[in-house]
Amino acid sequence: MRCTRAVIYGDNLKHNLGVIRSFIQRPQTKLCIAVKADGYGCGAVFTARTAIECGASYLAVATVDEGIELRENGISCPILMLSLCSKDEMESVVRYNITPFVFDREYITALDKAAGRFNDKSKFPVHLAVDTGMGRIGCMPEEAVEAATFIIRSAHLSLEGVCTHCSSADGINDADRIYTRMQFDTFVSSVNAIKKAGIEPGICHCAASAALLDHPEMQLDMVRSGIITYGYYAGQIDREYFAVKGIPCELEPVMSLESEIVSIRPFKAGKYVSYGRTWTVERDTDIAVLPIGYADGLLRRFSPGLTVAINEKSYPVVGRICMDQCMVDIGKNNSDVHRWDKAVFFGPKNSGALQDAEDIARRTGTIAYEIMTGITKRVPRVIV
Ligand SMILES: *Cc1c(COP(=O)(O)O)cnc(C)c1O
Repeated sequence: MRCTRAVIYGDNLKHNLGVIRSFIQRPQTKLCIAVKADGYGCGAVFTARTAIECGASYLAVATVDEGIELRENGISCPILMLSLCSKDEMESVVRYNITPFVFDREYITALDKAAGRFNDKSKFPVHLAVDTGMGRIGCMPEEAVEAATFIIRSAHLSLEGVCTHCSSADGINDADRIYTRMQFDTFVSSVNAIKKAGIEPGICHCAASAALLDHPEMQLDMVRSGIITYGYYAGQIDREYFAVKGIPCELEPVMSLESEIVSIRPFKAGKYVSYGRTWTVERDTDIAVLPIGYADGLLRRFSPGLTVAINEKSYPVVGRICMDQCMVDIGKNNSDVHRWDKAVFFGPKNSGALQDAEDIARRTGTIAYEIMTGITKRVPRVIV
């Protein structure tokens, strides 16, 4: 196997699932774990199995293919599909029993037709998405009763749940908190209007990671946990935020990204390293090569500034990151660093990493979500 790999720490995943469960206020609140984007890069099937073992009763995916992968690996629990699919995919949605988010007549009608043709059981369950301010998918709150009515009057669909998604629950400033409160109140009003119309809304859910941890009243019938499952905090709802509040919330990163030194060569002052000659050797040094590059998800824009841990010390990646390789300045005759030594870019502390994906994200203007899901298929996932 390649020495460039993403190591997946199963114990950390279980630890995080335990933390999540400890934040759930009421035993009847269901736990849904988002395993979209291959479990945020950590492996969807492994995450799904572990999550179910630790008390999750729903999983969530973004695409039909992601749902099919879970089913083909023997996972039988309900699977929510958080994004919309094409008309062509609706047959598979029904055949593989993936529970879609719906909200408009045209989409509901197309799905109803697919359910009529390919669903052998009773009525096919769907969740009604209400756009309370995310500005992505969902019906307007004032259309919720009409949409719910349209679903329950369809020939082959049933209303299993009603949901919404918050745009700013991971912010801690007043404007974000007021907006989140408005979204939640709007959602509750929509659900109440549906009930008042004599329709059973089913499972009501609106909390992703940030709201799950920080707005217990928003947990309702189910929470949809994503990023915190994998050991990273959602936005400003972070470790320090909870420490200040006196509520410990210690998540552990699940993935580490590591490689191995495959070459060390001496460089004289004045020589260059990598494409574009953006880095010049200032004084004589040794340069190590790691067989990992942007095609693995070690993005070009991470350098300059990226560091990597080798035997518990941090070294700079120098010059442009190439598609398949990058170079590290280890200093002249460094007796701490040898060929075949492990180099860890990010991960939990016990991985040998000196930083996590959030540290890299903060420095490079992105979020841990993007770094984790950016680790490509070429990088083998090794579960430990
Ligand atoms: C991705 C997603 C989640 C999980 O979000 P996190 O911030 O990772 O917890 C929940 N709900 C919906 C609709 C999503 O798209």
